Amino acid sequence: MVNLRPRVFVTRRFFPEALEVLTDAVETEVWPHDDPPTPKQLLEKIDGADGVLTNIMDNVDANVLRTAHRLKVVSQLGVGVDNIDVAEATLRGVLVGNTPGVLAKATADIGFGLLMSAARRIGESDRWLRAGKWTMQYHPMVWLGAEVHGATLGIVGMGQIGLEMAKRALGFDMRVIYYSRTRKPDLEAEFGLEYFDPSDLLSTADFVSLHIPLTLETRHFIGERELRMMKPTSILVNVARGGVVDSQALYIALSEGWISGAALDVTDPEPILPDDPLLTLENLVITPHIGSASIASRRHTCLLAARNVVAGIQGRRLEACANPEVYAAKGI
Ligand code: NAP
Repeated sequence: MVNLRPRVFVTRRFFPEALEVLTDAVETEVWPHDDPPTPKQLLEKIDGADGVLTNIMDNVDANVLRTAHRLKVVSQLGVGVDNIDVAEATLRGVLVGNTPGVLAKATADIGFGLLMSAARRIGESDRWLRAGKWTMQYHPMVWLGAEVHGATLGIVGMGQIGLEMAKRALGFDMRVIYYSRTRKPDLEAEFGLEYFDPSDLLSTADFVSLHIPLTLETRHFIGERELRMMKPTSILVNVARGGVVDSQALYIALSEGWISGAALDVTDPEPILPDDPLLTLENLVITPHIGSASIASRRHTCLLAARNVVAGIQGRRLEACANPEVYAAKGI
């Protein structure tokens, strides 16, 4: 008997309840390995599929989209879609779903945790202690760090995660200044946020926290010029995408003391290479892209991504879509 159910390929194992959303509606194949499919394997699996569930490590480029002639929807587990050629998908009438909102608070939690860790040298002192170096008694002049309360946080990208970061900072009695593509007078009024242009923000903030998507325009948004504008006492936090920061310039800035420290949840490339010079620096706190990795947040992300792919295949609007201009072409 010919199977006429639509087919969905899922590039990683995920929550059983999200899988159930798929299997109830479509024929589902889940990549069973911990390592992601290679580009060739991804091509083979997507060819003939109606939908695919992807994540940041899957490169859905123009070649993949050209080959996958049946594809109706690419559903990303995550809010950033920089691994997907969204312009090509739009051209081909393929919907691109994503998962904003459900991961914003969890990601801001990590952002603020990293900020605290870099300011008060938590990672650095943990490594020092485990290396058996805690031999002297209390000394008032060692392990001094930056004060968080009362300091100024500069947020770049006042979207859902940027706003959650601002709320956490306000809870710590920080002054919050921001730069974003669009000014937000309502948020300024409600939360007392102050709008700064990028160079003023960089030269004023004690902490600069990045929350913009990675696009052609934002690649290396922070490079040598910007790092030199920051205060020598300041700390850079990046929980957005590695490519938003020029990592070579960051290495020099941290080594030569242009800035005091950095905290990264994202790198360029990912995974970061084991011999990357950044990993030799004590004034860097780094985590392996775990921003949204709370159990609840990942569960909601997987459920939303599953509902998105089913909606797209069934000809309905997605709950969150990175290229809603496709709706008009599809008449939905
Ligand atoms: P969002 O709500 O879309 O916010 C992004 C903000 O950046 C928006 O306010 C946006 O524009 C602003 N923006 C876009 N381009 C800009 C530019 N060229 N210059 C200045 N501002 C610009 O997205 P989100 O949910 O907050 O997520 C932000 C990013 O975080 C994602 O794209 C993703 O890459 C990253 N992320 C990382 C993790 C992690 O695990 N580390 C988890 C989730 C997301 P407006 O000012 O016009 O509103």
